[in-house]
Amino acid sequence: MGESVLSAGFARTDGELHCDGVSLDAIARTVGTPAYIYSAPLIREQYGRLERALAPVPHRIHYSAKANSARGVLALLQSLGAGVDIVSGGELYRALAAGFGGADIVFSGVGKTERELIEALDSRVLLVNVESEGELRLLDRVAREKGVIAPVAMRVNPEVMVDTPHHYTRTGERGHKFGIPYADALEVGRLAESLPNIRLAGLDMHIGSQVSRLEPYRDGMRRLLELLDALRSATGGAKDIHYLDIGGGLAVTYENEAPMDVEAFAEAVIPSIAESGLTLIVEPGRFLVGNAGVLLTRVLYRKKSGDTEYIITDAGMNDLLRPSHYNAYHRITAVRPVGGRVVADVVGPVCESGDFFALGREVDDVQPGELLVVQSSGAYGYSMASTYNSRPRPAEVLVDDGRYAVITQRESYEDIVAREVGEPEWRDA
Ligand SMILES: *Cc1c(COP(=O)(O)O)cnc(C)c1O
Repeated sequence: MGESVLSAGFARTDGELHCDGVSLDAIARTVGTPAYIYSAPLIREQYGRLERALAPVPHRIHYSAKANSARGVLALLQSLGAGVDIVSGGELYRALAAGFGGADIVFSGVGKTERELIEALDSRVLLVNVESEGELRLLDRVAREKGVIAPVAMRVNPEVMVDTPHHYTRTGERGHKFGIPYADALEVGRLAESLPNIRLAGLDMHIGSQVSRLEPYRDGMRRLLELLDALRSATGGAKDIHYLDIGGGLAVTYENEAPMDVEAFAEAVIPSIAESGLTLIVEPGRFLVGNAGVLLTRVLYRKKSGDTEYIITDAGMNDLLRPSHYNAYHRITAVRPVGGRVVADVVGPVCESGDFFALGREVDDVQPGELLVVQSSGAYGYSMASTYNSRPRPAEVLVDDGRYAVITQRESYEDIVAREVGEPEWRDA
């Protein structure tokens, strides 16, 4: 039953799956497979929904680039007015190349290097979301050496219970590596206020990913605002704190999970933001792009081994890691189903038994040469792809206005080995 459910933006015309009116079969014939296909209208729609829901309070939507960092996707979100949330110097480079300015950027991440902090200051990012006392001190020194003041939001671990489906995607519980432990936050906040080249401009949290309940956000915000009160009375200041960044994590539907109800989310966060007088920052990734993309793949072979039917596709775990890494569920459907169904393992060509998209699943009975889509692959798909097994990474295609464009070309074999040195130059240490 779940198999025939399609995300908005994907629909059958004359029995064949289309993305916003564009034939996936036609894209496969010209671009090849595997390929990621993204719907620009769907991304716009999700962005618009969140934007409208948060309209009653001052807010900024900073798209979390790691969900899908294709330049075409970043540029689309930039054109809608989004800022961006980045977690590395590489993402900073991508964000600037896609048209974001420094003031559009918040820089998150638990292990930023000195070089990345320098790059952040050089780009004049809006906020560096600092996650430890060590990072704060390093940033202060780097800023002093440059003669600038570093704008900082302190990422605090609010130590709330989170409901995400896999423990790898929880980040805001006690003992996690992310953020400053709540018990230390007041002291680190005071330190931030005393360091000469730091301007403490915000408080920040990110509790996890694929969160569908409101309580963790409510609880986390309450804890951040309590911290703000404590900082105000402790330092008589916190006067530069203008931002409350509550991170990303808003859930989408992959199978039959409840997505985050953004209107309810907005209702939950708006009163305390309004009362605080702060500007809200949210950092959604998956919510904006997750259901806007599919992985288009061609069936290579069918075979039976023991009692198991296998559908072997030309896409593998190197292209879409989520099923094997998070045990994630993605709906799978034929581009042109012919009616039959089969219980099968849908697997890739990679030499790993963990290389699968579905196990023991009833799916369309597809034959070699036919096309499948792995749905809801717009987030943490291509951005987690690798060249494992020396498989070139797939193409990325954006569909808009009845047309499509390749936004990332398929990698070539030459690309895969381009950085390798044929004749190593041996040096004495
Ligand atoms: C990954 C991440 C996000 C985005 O998470 P989603 O679940 O994709 O919304 C936001 N903020 C930070 C700090 C992150 O690490």
